[in-house]
Amino acid sequence: MASEPIALQAAVIGGGIAGLCAAGALADHFEQVVVLERDSLSDGPAHRPGTPQSRHAHGLLVGGQRALSELFPGFERDLVEAGSVLVTSSIDVRVERPGYDPFPQRDLGLTSYALSRPAIEFAVRQRVRARANISLRDRCRVGELLASTDRTAVTGVRFDEEGAGQRELAADLVVDASGRGAPTLALLKATGHPLPDETVIGVDQHYATGVFDIPSDAPADWKSVLTFGGLPANPARGALLWPLEGNQWIVSLGGRHGDAPPGDVGGFMAFAQGLRTPTVHDAVKNARLDGNIVRYGFRDNVLRHVDRLEFFPRGLIALGDAVCRFNPVYGQGMTVAAQEACLLRKLLAAPASSGDPLQGLAKAFFKHIPSLVETPWGVATFDFVHPATRGQRPADFDSRVKFGAALTRLAAEDPDVHRLASEVQHLLKPRSVYQDPALLQRLLPLLAQA
Ligand SMILES: Cc1cc2nc3c(=O)[nH]c(=O)nc-3n(C[C@H](O)[C@H](O)[C@H](O)COP(=O)(O)OP(=O)(O)OC[C@H]3O[C@@H](n4cnc5c(N)ncnc54)[C@H](O)[C@@H]3O)c2cc1C
Repeated sequence: MASEPIALQAAVIGGGIAGLCAAGALADHFEQVVVLERDSLSDGPAHRPGTPQSRHAHGLLVGGQRALSELFPGFERDLVEAGSVLVTSSIDVRVERPGYDPFPQRDLGLTSYALSRPAIEFAVRQRVRARANISLRDRCRVGELLASTDRTAVTGVRFDEEGAGQRELAADLVVDASGRGAPTLALLKATGHPLPDETVIGVDQHYATGVFDIPSDAPADWKSVLTFGGLPANPARGALLWPLEGNQWIVSLGGRHGDAPPGDVGGFMAFAQGLRTPTVHDAVKNARLDGNIVRYGFRDNVLRHVDRLEFFPRGLIALGDAVCRFNPVYGQGMTVAAQEACLLRKLLAAPASSGDPLQGLAKAFFKHIPSLVETPWGVATFDFVHPATRGQRPADFDSRVKFGAALTRLAAEDPDVHRLASEVQHLLKPRSVYQDPALLQRLLPLLAQA
C-alpha cells in the first residue's frame, strides 16, 4: 500500500474492465478491497456470460493503455507477454473511408497492442490477483446495496454466493462497476431519491463477428483494416479486421438499424462482400473460420448525468458503462473506464478537505465526469450523420460535420495534423486541441469548401 489507508474495506461490484481498474485504484487507499463478480472466473483468458461483448473485436486505445499502465505499472509488458500483436498507428492499420482508400499510412509514433478482449481482461485480472489486499470473489452476485438507517449512506452489499447462499459484506465504499448500474439505480429508487437524467442516442448498431486463422498469403502491407461505410444503399455498413494472439484475425462486421449482418457463414461473407471496398472480404473469403459467427445488438449510447444529482449516498460511486455507454464501433469503453479509475485514484490520494475522506468523494468524482467523457461522447454524437439515429441532435451538428470533413482533409495532407487527430481519437488529448488558432487558420479555406 502506497499510503496510510483512508478506510478499512471497499467493495467493487463487477469484475469486468471497469471493476478491475477500480480495484487497482482503491488498493492503495483501503486496507482491503473485495471484488464481487457474478460469473465464474477461469484461470486463463475465456469468454463468460456476464461480458457477451468479449466475442467481438476489442481495440484498446493508446489512452487506455496509458491509463492501465498508470494503475498497473509495466502493464504494456504484460500485453506483450500475453501474445499481443504490435500495431503501429497508422502504418499497420489500413483505414478506408470515402475519398481515402486507404487513408495515408504513416508512422505517427503510437503503438497499440492487439489481442482478444478475454486476454486483455485476464491480463488486468492477473494484476489485481497479485495485489495482496485485493480479494477477487467469483460466483458472487450482488443483489442490493445496504443503506444506513437514515438512508443517506451506503454501508455495504448483500450478495448471493453460489453454493453458500446469501451473505452481507460491510464496506466503507462501494464501487458500482456492474455495467448497467442496476444496484445504484435500485438504491436511489428505494430510498426515494431522484435517478440521474440520461442523454440517449439510439443507434441500433448490429455486430456479427468471426475469428479466422491468418492465411499464409495474407497481405503484408497491413495488419488491420478499418473500413467505413459510405455506399448510398448502406451508408453505415463497416468492418474492423483486428489481429489477435495466436496468429488469428477477429473480423467484426457492423450495420445499423435494419441492416444487420447475418449470423450464418454464407450471409456473413455476402455482407462482407457488400462492404464499400473488397479488402476485408478478399482477406477472409478463403481463410479458415475458427468456431461460429456470433452476433451482438447495441441499441443506445447512454450518458448518465451523475454530476447533476443533488443527492448521492455517501460511500457509493459508479463508473464504467454504469455511467456512460458508448457505441462500440469507436472502441472507447475500456479506455474511459480505465481513465475514470485513474481519476478515482487521484481523488483518493488528495488530502481530504474535511476530516472524512469519503464525504464528498462521489460529488468530486462525478464533477469531473463531464470533462472526462466530453471527447468520447463528442465522437458518439457523430452517429447523427445517420438519419435514423434517435435523440437530441446537437444544435451545431452540421458545423461539427463540416469541421470533421475539413480536419480529415488536412490530416490526409499533413502528418502533424494526422498525429494530432489520432491522439484525440486515442483519447490521449481532448478535442479542445482543435481550437488552436494556428490550426483553425489552416482549416478556414477547407471549411469554406466543405
Ligand atoms: C460489441 C462490443 C464491442 C466493444 N468493443 C470495444 C472496443 O473495441 N474497445 C473498447 O474500449 N471498448 C469496447 N466495448 C466496450 C467495453 O466492452 C466496455 O465499455 C468496457 O469493458 C467497460 O465495461 P464495464 O466493466 O463497465 O462493464 P461490463 O463489461 O459490462 O462488466 C460488468 C461486470 O459486472 C458483472 N456484474 C454485473 N452485475 C453484477 C452483479 N449484480 N453482481 C456481481 N457482478 C455483476 C458482470 O458479470 C461483468 O463482469 C465494446 C462493447 C461492445 C458491446
